[in-house]
Amino acid sequence: MTTTHHHVMILGTGPAGLTAAIYAARANLKPFVVEGNEPGGQLTLTTEIENFPGFPEGIMGPQLMADMRAQAERFGAEFQMGWVTSADLSKRPFRVTVNEDEMHEADAIIVSTGASAKLLGIDGEDEYIGRGVSTCATCDGFFFRNKEIIVVGGGDSAMEEATFLTKFASKVTIVHRREELRASKVMQDRARANEKITWALGMTPLGVEADGKKVTGLKVKDGKTGEEKVLKTDGIFVAIGHSPNTAFLNGQLDVDAIGYIKTQGVTSATNVEGVFACGDVMDPHYRQAITAAGSGCKAAMDVEKFLEGSSVHDWSESAPESIKA
Ligand code: NAP
Repeated sequence: MTTTHHHVMILGTGPAGLTAAIYAARANLKPFVVEGNEPGGQLTLTTEIENFPGFPEGIMGPQLMADMRAQAERFGAEFQMGWVTSADLSKRPFRVTVNEDEMHEADAIIVSTGASAKLLGIDGEDEYIGRGVSTCATCDGFFFRNKEIIVVGGGDSAMEEATFLTKFASKVTIVHRREELRASKVMQDRARANEKITWALGMTPLGVEADGKKVTGLKVKDGKTGEEKVLKTDGIFVAIGHSPNTAFLNGQLDVDAIGYIKTQGVTSATNVEGVFACGDVMDPHYRQAITAAGSGCKAAMDVEKFLEGSSVHDWSESAPESIKA
């Protein structure tokens, strides 16, 4: 196996990775960017982005990501299709295996592998994923034209998916395990104002009902009465959040209780010198395209300092005591 050496490898191409790529490329670091198994990240699975600054009329998610990629390429970022299967962070240069059979070495690494959709872990879910159970309204909504759909979840994702799915479905029912929604008011109001959306609140999903070929319903438990019942549906969209993509790191970076990579103080530095993290893989809180992009910028600037030979403590010194590492 031949080994290719890079100054900096960027793992993942969501807003964090692509912004890091733009900044690193403009700093002449010739970043080598591994696209990941969802090139462009979660925004390629969404429709219109209304809150990314600079686009008063909104912009489609895939277009925004294609533009960011083109911007990084313009300054010399090199892109590689595929995903990282393992990484050895025990010494520098770090060794990264891509697509199982390509070996790369890097003086510094930016981890921007994002987060993936969570599943409910109920009976029938795995079996019917792609056959009536989905985690992506943008990808699969089209198949449910004039059908009845359930969206599971009470956060902004669930509101967004449900509202989007009303373009296709005859009826969308939002099933949420509590009476109160977690979603922001503006997203709730939009969903509540939509005549095609109905609500099944305080219902815990128990299992996917199916006839051997397709989904027919969702078995739920009513939190108030304790009664179990089946809500009839043609499709189930699971929109209950995401978990960070860190499996390939095999425990080499410090993570929090949920699995988000820990970074030091105001910087993007991880516990391994020369490895930096940005975007949804390290942010359990904000998780927005714009905050991911901002953290990607920080990571590229931190890498630049690191490759110049300064330690993370030099550039986090000016941070207030309360947020220092
Ligand atoms: P989230 O805010 O974590 O909400 C997840 C929802 O799924 C919660 O209501 C949760 O219930 C429910 N849930 C979690 N695990 C469950 C399980 N095992 N069974 C049943 N229900 C379960 O995730 P999100 O909606 O993906 O949003 C994540 C972040 O992205 C948020 O900061 C959000 O504001 C942002 N976001 C913004 C937009 C936008 O502005 N356009 C769109 C999407 C997401 P509980 O409430 O009971 O915990």
